[in-house]
Amino acid sequence: MEAVNTKVIVKWGGREFEIQYGPTDTIHDLRNYIYKQTKVKPERQKLLNLKFKGKTPEDSCTVSTLKLKCGFKIMMMGSLEEEIEKVNSEPLDMPEVVNDLDIEDEEVAIENQEIYLAKVEKRVKEYEIKMLNDFRTNKKLLVLDIDYTLFDHRSSAETGNELMRPYLHEFLTSAYEDYDIVIWSATGMKWIEEKMKLLGVSTHNAYKIAFYLDSLAMISVHIPKYGVLDVKPLGVIWGKFPQYSSKNTIMFDDVRRNFIMNPRNGLKIRAFRQAHLNRSTDTELLKLSKYLKDLAQNCEDFSSVSHRHWEKYKPKRRR
Ligand SMILES: [Mg+2]
Repeated sequence: MEAVNTKVIVKWGGREFEIQYGPTDTIHDLRNYIYKQTKVKPERQKLLNLKFKGKTPEDSCTVSTLKLKCGFKIMMMGSLEEEIEKVNSEPLDMPEVVNDLDIEDEEVAIENQEIYLAKVEKRVKEYEIKMLNDFRTNKKLLVLDIDYTLFDHRSSAETGNELMRPYLHEFLTSAYEDYDIVIWSATGMKWIEEKMKLLGVSTHNAYKIAFYLDSLAMISVHIPKYGVLDVKPLGVIWGKFPQYSSKNTIMFDDVRRNFIMNPRNGLKIRAFRQAHLNRSTDTELLKLSKYLKDLAQNCEDFSSVSHRHWEKYKPKRRR
């Protein structure tokens, strides 16, 4: 009988690639097939959820021993050679990459448009939140983006630690004293779960994440100047959990447009890119820990503070 090929789907960089393999193909072969389609070199491919007895399978392992379902989705991280070259040749003091919008006037108009409020309402009704840990009483709420905020997802590295933003666990530990923490990423839930596992966030002893939100909780808005954009409206959380509002919620994201529906509750964090170059100097999370403390202890209404100027924030001490 003719040997039958089967297939897996490789998800990488927001795209999906169908990869066929035969019954005797090894992981090494599989990586070469992936290379043919994605141009990510085998040694740079990190196949996140491909496991054999709980571990990443050796290259000599036959794929069929993994007993993958046909069409199994493999989540991959890894950079293209030309991107790595570009990164390595970029000057260190290059200004922050701007793929963001300069949204000032548009934002207020957009947050109140009824059509968007209706979309938020729909998410409140239909998006299901899986609570990982219960909210505590009298805590503020911190909503965090993942990519380039906590983690450099485009650089290549062997372990999550190499891609993790410095002081991540210290930051989350400190924040957790005053805030319940939610993670919101514009990717799929599986990705989020894998990344949080990779970074050791989901299993940390000193803090707990209340829940994750993925791209399905986002809404698309139309901004005349820029077209249709997907954004993260905090109203989805506020609608589901009325103890939270613009008074006690803050969101960090490296992309300002993500909080166009709640501009006064968003803080644009400097993007953490080129992890291997910036790992020793990036102190953003350390400084933001202090900012969160100052807010939690001294600010009655988070939306009354301009988070754009967070570095210059001088709390009015309460007596
Ligand atoms: Mg991001």
